[in-house]
Amino acid sequence: MMIDANLPIIEDNSDTSRQKKANCRWTWIGGKTMLSSEPDVRLRRARIVLEGLSVGDALGGFFEMASPQALPHFVKNRVLPSPVWRYTDDTNMALSIYQVLRQHGSIHQDVLAASFAQRLDWTRGYGLGARSLLLRMQAGGNWRELSKNMFHGTGSYGNGAAMRITPLGAYFADDLTKVVEQAALSAEITHAHPEGVAGGVAVAVGAALACRLRETGECPDRKAFIEMVLPHVPDSQVKAGMLKARDLPENLPIWPDVVREIGNGSGISAQDTVPFVLWSAGTYLDNYEEAIWQTASAGGDVDTTCAMVGGIVAGYVGIENIPAEWIVRRELLPSWAIED
Ligand SMILES: [Mg+2]
Repeated sequence: MMIDANLPIIEDNSDTSRQKKANCRWTWIGGKTMLSSEPDVRLRRARIVLEGLSVGDALGGFFEMASPQALPHFVKNRVLPSPVWRYTDDTNMALSIYQVLRQHGSIHQDVLAASFAQRLDWTRGYGLGARSLLLRMQAGGNWRELSKNMFHGTGSYGNGAAMRITPLGAYFADDLTKVVEQAALSAEITHAHPEGVAGGVAVAVGAALACRLRETGECPDRKAFIEMVLPHVPDSQVKAGMLKARDLPENLPIWPDVVREIGNGSGISAQDTVPFVLWSAGTYLDNYEEAIWQTASAGGDVDTTCAMVGGIVAGYVGIENIPAEWIVRRELLPSWAIED
């Protein structure tokens, strides 16, 4: 398994109950705590979440084309595609964020914008708007102007800022104020609309809280998890959707009921994606496999919903609870992003 040997391990994983997992705190080489603000520890948190994001993205991409009617078959029978699982734009842009945090310790917008543009890969499913924006940036355009001017001057409220952001949330998990500030900086490079930024902030905070919950031993249910994220999210349709997600009845079937109420990313907007992602991550916070299967079962923008949920849940369950077979099947992450 091509995982950094310095990634942390947990003390005991023999009991799979929700509370027990929450009580299994991280053990760091050198005795550092999970929530240290030291750059190497921050980067390890981000790397774990990057693994969760990229595996969810790559597996979710397989289900992207399946109809909602066919998806229950995959979920029920746990049908895994043959390797190699190729990651998509969600991971590719998250790799740029990881690279910038690794090299600079915070979001330098011009550097991140340049990396987004340089690493544009048409084969990885970028949306038309993102492709157009990044091509103009490659041609020397100013991202500040280009991003604001998208969609006749409103800026984009797509889910693209949120899809790539969980490693940032993990990186700054020791400082939630920083999570919100840095998330907004990373979002507005491509998503200047307040809804696009709100979606990025909400998912980054979700990932940060997952890491923090792991350390504190708390074990919230879905409602309590969303409740913890809400105060950090600006007033927006995204937030309104999160309130709705929080208040959905227990045991409501994910398809079609939950999707009918709060979306599944099929509109590829932040508003249509992020409330569902936080509902799913909060519901399956202690079980990476189940979180991904259930998220996929909802259909919609599956690579992206699985990328977001996978990143958040990885922050809570750790690298050990992402199936090793899944990580091995995903293509290797590129050296430009993860190696010095
Ligand atoms: Mg994608």
